[in-house]
Amino acid sequence: MTIKIPVAQPDIGELETQYVLDCLNTKWISSNGSYISKLESKFASMMGVKHAITTNNGTTALHLALVALDLKPGDEVIVPTITYIATANAVSYCGAKPVLVDVLPGSLNIDPSKIEDAITPKTKGIIAVHLYGYPADMGAIKSIAEHNDLWVLEDAAESHKASINGKFVGSIGDCGVFSFFGNKIMTTGEGGMITTNDDALASRMRLFRGQGMDVERRYWHPVIGYNYRMTNIQAAIGLAQLERLDKLISRRDHIKRVYDYLLKDHPDIELNRNPNNYRDVCWLYNIFIKNCSRLRRDAIMKLMLKDGIETRPVFYPLHIMPPYENNNNYPIADDWYGRGINLPTYSELTEAEIKEVIKSLVKAIDDTKFNDENWC
Ligand SMILES: *Cc1c(COP(=O)(O)O)cnc(C)c1O
Repeated sequence: MTIKIPVAQPDIGELETQYVLDCLNTKWISSNGSYISKLESKFASMMGVKHAITTNNGTTALHLALVALDLKPGDEVIVPTITYIATANAVSYCGAKPVLVDVLPGSLNIDPSKIEDAITPKTKGIIAVHLYGYPADMGAIKSIAEHNDLWVLEDAAESHKASINGKFVGSIGDCGVFSFFGNKIMTTGEGGMITTNDDALASRMRLFRGQGMDVERRYWHPVIGYNYRMTNIQAAIGLAQLERLDKLISRRDHIKRVYDYLLKDHPDIELNRNPNNYRDVCWLYNIFIKNCSRLRRDAIMKLMLKDGIETRPVFYPLHIMPPYENNNNYPIADDWYGRGINLPTYSELTEAEIKEVIKSLVKAIDDTKFNDENWC
C-alpha cells in the first residue's frame, strides 16, 4: 500500500541545504563548530532564557536535565500518564520512579488537581508535558511545586513557541526540554535542546553532556558524564529551521483552522480542548471519535490507510504498558486515549489534501458506525 499523505514530514528548504553544505565544505562536521553556538544563542534569545544547551536528541535532553537536577535512585517524579514514553524512561534511566497522574479530558495534559495526592516524601519534581502543542496549566503546576519544594521540568518536545500569557513553554519551569526529531515542529533530523535561566544547572548540563570533562582542564573528568553532544551538521539544519520557524508555525496554524472549520460540526467527532485559551501550536491535529471503542478506532485508521492516508493513534497511557503498569485508577486517560487519532499535520500539507483526509475519515466513521460490536 503506498502512502499518499503521510502523518508527518519535515519541511527542508534551500537554507538548510546551504548551511549543511557549508559544514561539509569547511569540514566542521562533528560536535564543534559555529552552527552549534549560533543555534544555542539564537534559541535562547528567542525563548527569552539565559541558557540553551543542544543535545543529540530529545530523550538525552530529558535525561541530561534530570542528571543536572541531581535525580537519584529511589527518588520519585510526577509524570502524566499520557505522554511519549521518553518522558518516563528518562526518569527510569536515573534509577528513579515516575509516579503517574491522570490527565484532563480533551487536552490530555496533566490534571493539576490530582498531583498533590501523588506526592510522597520521595518526590523530587514534576514533569509538565505540553502534549501535542497544548500548554499544560503551568500556573497551577508551579504553585503546587512551590508549596511542596519540588522542581518543575517542562517537556516541550512537541510545543516549540506555544505560550502562556506571552511566556513560551520551556521558559516557565526550572528548565525546559525540546526535541528536534524529524516529525517535530522544527527538526535537526535527531536533536534536542534544554533551556534554563539557572546558571548552576546550565553548567552541570554542559559538564555532563561532554563526558564530564572539566571545562577548565582538558581530559580531567571529575564526574561520570555522557556523550550527548549535537553535531554541527544537525545544528546547521536547526539554525535554518529556527530562522524559518515562525513561517512553519503559521502554516500549521492555518492547517489547524482548516481542519477545525471542516470538522467542527461532525456529530461523531470531538476536537482537542484548550480550556485556558493558551497560545497552542499544532504539532499533530487530534480528533476523538465519540462513543468509540479502541478497536473501532483502529479499524477507522486501517480503512484510512487503505486510502493512502497515514494516521497515528493517540499515545497509549503509560500505566497500561509493561514497564509502568500499576493498579491505580486513571479514568480520563482510559476513556480518551483509545478514541484519539492524530491526522496528517505538516507545513506543506495542502488544503486539497486536508479535504482528502477528511473525506476518507468521514467515510471510515460511517463504515464502522453500526457494527461497533464487531470491533470489541
Ligand atoms: C519526541 C518527544 C520526546 C523525545 O524526543 P526524541 O528527540 O525523539 O528523543 C520526549 N517527549 C515528548 C513528549 C516527545 O514528543
